[in-house]
Amino acid sequence: MQDLLEFNQAELAQWIHSELGEKPFRARQIFQWVWQKLARDFAVMSNVSLSTRARLAQKAALAWPDIVTIQKSKDGTTKFLLAFHDGARVETVLIPSEDHEGRIRWTQCLSSQIGCPMACTFCATGQSGFTRNMTCGEIASQVLIGREYLQDTRPDHPILRNLVFMGMGEPLMNCGELVKALTILNDPHGLAFSPRRVTVSTCGIKEGIAKLGESGQCYLAISLHAPNQRIREQIMPRAAKLPLEELLAALRRYPLKTREHITFEYLLLRDVNDSPEQAHELAKVVRSVRGKLNLIVYNATDGPYQAPSPERVLAFEKALWSHHLTAIVRQSKGQDIDAACGQLKARFEK
Ligand code: SAH
Repeated sequence: MQDLLEFNQAELAQWIHSELGEKPFRARQIFQWVWQKLARDFAVMSNVSLSTRARLAQKAALAWPDIVTIQKSKDGTTKFLLAFHDGARVETVLIPSEDHEGRIRWTQCLSSQIGCPMACTFCATGQSGFTRNMTCGEIASQVLIGREYLQDTRPDHPILRNLVFMGMGEPLMNCGELVKALTILNDPHGLAFSPRRVTVSTCGIKEGIAKLGESGQCYLAISLHAPNQRIREQIMPRAAKLPLEELLAALRRYPLKTREHITFEYLLLRDVNDSPEQAHELAKVVRSVRGKLNLIVYNATDGPYQAPSPERVLAFEKALWSHHLTAIVRQSKGQDIDAACGQLKARFEK
């Protein structure tokens, strides 16, 4: 059985031609059924001939993940625990926000690996180990789950607006499948997201950054979290194997469109990286690249860290202002259901 969720449109065209002798335009119809009309089986594909549907059903499948649990936070944030065919489990989160006209729009936080090999010391996923990479179909099918839950099937008026790869895993340690998933997410006959609305967040993998830049299919965010190499080594030792200077050099080579920036995420950990002196040091780093800054206040997990006090966060921001650098302090949602950044920790056993 071939899982059609594993194909981008070009591969699907190739497959239906070689396996079913169908013309390539059929691929577009089937692709739209799969990714836009959220078809879970072939029987509903009414503009495909009955005999083709029957042959598809014999040779192919649409392997949607199972939903194990859904948890809803007071603030509307909704976390899904998904299971794939081998029992591997992963979490994905839908986050609501209001647009300027007061309508609810959603952002989905996607996972890219089952667990994570980077073992950052402050991150629950990192602390719980690595199982395996996700396939492109598994990555993209999280969005099918999100869209179905939100009943979001009008591509001209989507309410699921933004995608962020800030769930479980290090996307650029799974770069091949990630980039293929991005082609499905961005395909106008697929999930039809604009690359501006898809953000890949990485702790900084040099080769992956270059590949992502070439693909031009998303916006880039870097988990920096430290103003210098020494503190980076202390809190994210595996990521810091790429020296900060080399990471910054790779970012300077990253192709940016007009007015586009690279977002730096900086997680504030009490007495580790939250002093005003460190803010001054950080400002220089962010300035050396066309960067903007998001501050994240640490969300508690089992690790040894604590969040800084609000006064301390403000003092950090003020130090940044003196460099004419403004930073958004990112509000965490879904803390009551452990759905905030760094708190995803699916149980991996079958
Ligand atoms: N591996 C990728 C994406 C996953 S994490 C990356 O490193 O960017 C998404 C963001 O949440 C990262 O910036 C990560 O460092 C941050 N994060 C991890 N643990 C956190 C915690 N306990 N509190 C707040 N943010 C955390």
